[in-house]
Amino acid sequence: MSRWLGMLVGLWLALPVQAAVVEAVRFSSSGDSARLVVESDRPLSYQLSQLTNPARVVVDIAAATLSPAASAQLPQLVSRSGLLTAVRAAPRGSGLRLVLESQAALTVNSFKLPAGAGLSPRLVVDLAGAARVNKTMAAVVGSARRNIVIAIDAGHGGKDPGALGPHNIQEKRVTYELARELAAIIDRAPGFESYLVRRGDQFLPLRQRSAKARKQRADFFISIHADAFTNPQANGASVYALSTSGATSETASFLAERENNADLIGGVDSLHLVSEEPAVAEALLGLSMDFTLRTSSEVGELVLKEIGKVARLHKKRVEKAAFIVLKSPDLPSLLIETGFISNPTEARRLTDRNYQRRMAQAIFNGLRSHYQAHPPPDSHLADPAAIRTHVVARGDTLSELAARYGVSQRALRERNQLAGSAIRIGQQLIIPPG
Ligand SMILES: [Zn+2]
Repeated sequence: MSRWLGMLVGLWLALPVQAAVVEAVRFSSSGDSARLVVESDRPLSYQLSQLTNPARVVVDIAAATLSPAASAQLPQLVSRSGLLTAVRAAPRGSGLRLVLESQAALTVNSFKLPAGAGLSPRLVVDLAGAARVNKTMAAVVGSARRNIVIAIDAGHGGKDPGALGPHNIQEKRVTYELARELAAIIDRAPGFESYLVRRGDQFLPLRQRSAKARKQRADFFISIHADAFTNPQANGASVYALSTSGATSETASFLAERENNADLIGGVDSLHLVSEEPAVAEALLGLSMDFTLRTSSEVGELVLKEIGKVARLHKKRVEKAAFIVLKSPDLPSLLIETGFISNPTEARRLTDRNYQRRMAQAIFNGLRSHYQAHPPPDSHLADPAAIRTHVVARGDTLSELAARYGVSQRALRERNQLAGSAIRIGQQLIIPPG
């Protein structure tokens, strides 16, 4: 057995590795952030790490060499940015090491772009200085990881106002305000980022909404609503997941029918949707749907529990119904009826900024609990060695930072050896695991 293994290894070592050639190194910067683009003749395989004293970002590229043209571009990078103090490149084994030195720790995000539209394959390294570290998707030490993307779909919009409440309060306005609050909360949380499906007062057919989210490689899709019911007494928030076998309650089927009708307002699109139905029905039977439905229900239970702390619940369980907007075989989704806009008391609450914020925070808390327990393997949250840092900005307080990162004030103090709750602008804090 080991002889075979030895032969295999020998064979592998004997294979000539075609080194990639880095043809150009470009740099652009604006304010406190910068982007490094490494162009090569073939896709690069790389690893990114960060070191301190001095702060530097190290990009190790496997099996690659630097062209003379790219080599000549390197010194210019320093003068082009206020962020970097030195840039070096050196061969390392059969590969290449790029070192970007800076005065202070930078937030780094990297990704690869394939060749296309006359462009070579590219490796992109985004750097951000202290002022932007606020969005601490983290000075994560280690490999290139990604944020968990939460797509937020503000229900209705444009020519579809949604339900109407007293004093002509339109559902589309309430859902959009809430969606923006939620996006702001998500974008402040390390390891997460938001994607707003609807931007402004625009009409979007239902299926286009999840399609847009999928294009952004969203991990989760949240559709926000505030519906009307025939009975103005009806009140309370509800969380819906997709059902493949009928609605769990009469309200659920009533609301699903109402929401699904949104596409009829769009006219032409509804015809197109009908013809799409069999394919979707088939996909619903697939195995991937099983994972999607399970994740949706799990997150739904967590979100419902959190919402229960700030609002009355219409039903104590996650309800199921056939909402079109939730029918993505590969994208876990929930539809949240944040309350009944047809109920005068609730309508007033739903337009209150403070209430919207508390509701948005509750939704995010539920999502966060799930992803902390089940982080996608390539996400920042999955990296147990991830070191989160925060550079204190004007207006930050210890209690607010503790809430933002989901840790206790005591844990923050202990990790950073703070005697009291005083912090100073520019100070770098290490955020302990939540
Ligand atoms: Zn609605």
